[in-house]
Amino acid sequence: MTRFKVELVRAECTACEMCVESCPDYFEMADDELSHIKGSQKVGDNEELEVDTLGCVKDAADACPVACIHLYEGANKIT
Ligand code: SF4
Repeated sequence: MTRFKVELVRAECTACEMCVESCPDYFEMADDELSHIKGSQKVGDNEELEVDTLGCVKDAADACPVACIHLYEGANKIT
């Protein structure tokens, strides 16, 4: 069972690229110049990806100046 979910609220992204610098394995800038989670699913205006370990995703969430990268462990929002 997947332990963590990463959620990106793209409508709040300011395209600063900090997440890409912090965690290029998971984040890249998309053609619309906003952040994109590699391999994610589109859920409404957001993107979501389930991962077994957070790794640098936590660094990206911490680095995001507008806090639009949210992390969940199970049903609990952790950032
Ligand atoms: S760090 Fe946040 S605001 Fe900056 S590009 Fe990534 S998701 Fe967007």
